[in-house]
Amino acid sequence: MFAAPIRALAPLALLLSSTVALAQADPPVTPAELMRHIERLASDEFEGRAPATEGERRTTAYIVEQLRSHGLEPAGANDSWFQPVPLVERAAGEHAVQWTANGRPAEFSQDEIVLLGRDASQRIADAPVIFAGHGARIPDRGIDQLAGTDVRGAVVLVLLEGPNIEGFPSLAERRQAVSDAGAAAVIAIVGAEVPWEAVRTTMAGQRATRLDSTPVPEVTGAMPLAAAQRLIAAGGGDLERLMNEQPGSSFRAVTLPLRATIDVTTRVERYVSNNVVARLRGSGNTNENLLYLAHWDHLGVCRPEGEADRICNGAVDNASGIAALIEIAGRLARQPRPARDILFLATTAEESGLLGAEYFAAHPVAPAPSIVAAINMDTIAIAPAGAPVAVMGRGDPALDRVIDETIQAAGRQIDTDDEANALVQRQDGWELTQAGIPTIMVGGSFSNMELLGAFLNGAYHKPEDQLGGPIPLEGAAEDTNLMVALGRRLADPTVYRRPAATTAAGQD
Ligand SMILES: [Zn+2]
Repeated sequence: MFAAPIRALAPLALLLSSTVALAQADPPVTPAELMRHIERLASDEFEGRAPATEGERRTTAYIVEQLRSHGLEPAGANDSWFQPVPLVERAAGEHAVQWTANGRPAEFSQDEIVLLGRDASQRIADAPVIFAGHGARIPDRGIDQLAGTDVRGAVVLVLLEGPNIEGFPSLAERRQAVSDAGAAAVIAIVGAEVPWEAVRTTMAGQRATRLDSTPVPEVTGAMPLAAAQRLIAAGGGDLERLMNEQPGSSFRAVTLPLRATIDVTTRVERYVSNNVVARLRGSGNTNENLLYLAHWDHLGVCRPEGEADRICNGAVDNASGIAALIEIAGRLARQPRPARDILFLATTAEESGLLGAEYFAAHPVAPAPSIVAAINMDTIAIAPAGAPVAVMGRGDPALDRVIDETIQAAGRQIDTDDEANALVQRQDGWELTQAGIPTIMVGGSFSNMELLGAFLNGAYHKPEDQLGGPIPLEGAAEDTNLMVALGRRLADPTVYRRPAATTAAGQD
């Protein structure tokens, strides 16, 4: 779809432009250069790079040492290289739940519920119980399942599975909406098609990590449909009827003839991890920035004591991306410098849900509108050299044009299908995109879904993603060189302007 018009676009002038000549003068990044970094970052000495461990200290120190050696400057908090990211991890502790129907205790096993509190110890005493359908509040579609019901202080039951409607809020969003309305607890009802025992053990063993600043409901949890049906029947109600007698869009929450008393303990651990942020000063005083990012974290010690290999070293995910970040910084630091400043961000806690990127997006070290584009690098050692180049996060015409021209100038093919975008919400760039920063991933690693799928179904997130395993770097080196060339163009205001910033920046 993109290839035909783009070929017609690549003008001779572009091929002769000075930026291209400079890019060609750079000695290309080699697989061996990338491997040198991966050998360090994915070594057992770095302990799998889990946030807030000795592995973090070694990893971030290594990245800082490399970036400093290339002449970059610190761009973190208080003139340091670090941007502290306050995190909180919550894991289920113990719970005791009693339900009463018409004043009498209802039969209930403590294995029929899993709960997670916001604070270490919480008690909800003799609270009303409300069934709120999906707990959906979508004002622009005229849907508000809480309308007319006061859920403050209540234990609210919602259906876990949403209807298959485009744009319907996720369970997390619905839970938060119900919590924002004042509910004391939001319990998801798990349908009969999902084996409850599996849900229970998974959720009971889960550790939920978030930014400490993210609001969470006081108490959340889940229970099987059968238990909800039985409790409601004990009060003389009928869940089946409640679910079916009102059409979805006009459904209104119903107060049940039940009360609940909940005691729950939660293991709550607060800690601080760090993004690394560096600046390469541009030559132009543009007050504008280009941003490269890659996540430095991985899963740490990921297997229980006694197993032969306990460390998830994350060689491909994402020592490969950090290796590229360092080499790109080295190439772009050579003279002459691009006009715009270039920020290099190594994020933490990507594996816990893009948290370092989420924090940076909320607290960018330069104003978000001054960041003209961002390039994320994650899991780039997948495809051999010569793979077509997939672009994740297209949609900004000015940016797309520069990307396509750069790919063409490099003599590479553009991947014309849109498969890569299936993964767009699973990478750090998503957080920046949502903050209004045009963010892309560019490379051959996700143009071949068969190769990527083989990795995701194989070594991915296992101890096998390690040194000695397959770490194909010919394609990664080729992609790294492409991203150097792309950075030269995107950091040049005569080649690329962020559309929203065009009027403010004027002509120069
Ligand atoms: Zn990962």
